[in-house]
Amino acid sequence: MINPGINRFCDVAVVGGGPAGLAAAVYLSRFLRSVLLFDAGDGRAELIPKTHNCPGFPDGVSGKDLLARLRAQATAYGTEIVAAGVKSLTAQPGAFVLATGAGHVHASRVVLATGVVDRAPAMHGLRKAIAAGIVRLCPVCDAYEVQGQRIAVVGPERSALKEALYLRHYSRDICIICNYPEDISGSTRAKADAAGIAVRDFVDDLVLRNSGLDLVMADGSTERIDVLYTAMGCDVRSELAMEVGAHCDEDGYILVGPHAQTSIEGVYAVGDVAKALNQIAVGFGQAALASTHIHNAMLAERAGSRCEKEPEAHHQSPNPRPGG
Ligand SMILES: Cc1cc2nc3c(=O)[nH]c(=O)nc-3n(C[C@H](O)[C@H](O)[C@H](O)COP(=O)(O)OP(=O)(O)OC[C@H]3O[C@@H](n4cnc5c(N)ncnc54)[C@H](O)[C@@H]3O)c2cc1C
Repeated sequence: MINPGINRFCDVAVVGGGPAGLAAAVYLSRFLRSVLLFDAGDGRAELIPKTHNCPGFPDGVSGKDLLARLRAQATAYGTEIVAAGVKSLTAQPGAFVLATGAGHVHASRVVLATGVVDRAPAMHGLRKAIAAGIVRLCPVCDAYEVQGQRIAVVGPERSALKEALYLRHYSRDICIICNYPEDISGSTRAKADAAGIAVRDFVDDLVLRNSGLDLVMADGSTERIDVLYTAMGCDVRSELAMEVGAHCDEDGYILVGPHAQTSIEGVYAVGDVAKALNQIAVGFGQAALASTHIHNAMLAERAGSRCEKEPEAHHQSPNPRPGG
């Protein structure tokens, strides 16, 4: 634990201890860089009951288990993990300064891996429903697991339709749900109808059951479904990037280059917070790219400063090397 009020220095500060931040820490520590990783906890990966598309786990792996493995791997190579949030990030001459819940840190480079927060409908037992796979947030992740099931989709009409059409590939029993008929336009209804997707109006409540969920209609009737997908978008945790002036898109995703570098030199963004597909495997890839770029840039920086110093060193050396 960093002592509050004490300044610490490191080569790289990683903000966020989800799969992407931890993967970056593994790479950077193996490049013999000093790494401090800050994590506020409660990331998206912790919600995953079991992922079946994470390469290397043929029987699947829970989010918690995956994180525990990554933490063990990062710390084994020297990453120091600090359970604290980073409150601000500023660029100062020669270093980035992070104000954290555990003191100030000066870092030569920063990797932002702060993730996103899913928006979800207000319902009792939401976390339990996610853990049971009854409420799901990511069809790319797990539509395979719900083949042939009764699926409802909730969200603003455009994204709900898009997600329902995606899921239609996996099941014939799909509906889009809404509170009021005016929530879904005629053209969306027509497109849904053409694809064999129903629209349920007047859904007043969602009640979790042991093996599914009841849609409770305004007239009190219920309809049982197996799975609810939310297509409600998410809030991107890019405040630190914005604070330091990095470019983001209109949704708040951090824009990155081919090495996951942001528009601010020395600041990188990996995982869900960076604009790309929100998947663990993508975060791993970005982490590898960012870490290698950081390491090479720091090597080049060091070689450059050596070259600059070299003539002076020769000039002052009382014992020139033979042949030098
Ligand atoms: C229910 C569910 C199922 C999913 N299933 C799959 C799947 O099967 N396959 C797949 O590839 N993906 C899946 N995903 C998506 C996957 O979880 C994300 O793509 C992945 O977790 C992104 O990793 P990350 O490191 O970018 O962010 P996260 O895992 O969200 O971690 C971000 C971390 O940053 C920390 N943080 C944020 N701000 C700060 C700050 N200021 N200071 C310090 N720490 C901070 C948070 O506390 C958090 O721990 C699923 C997501 C959900 C919700």
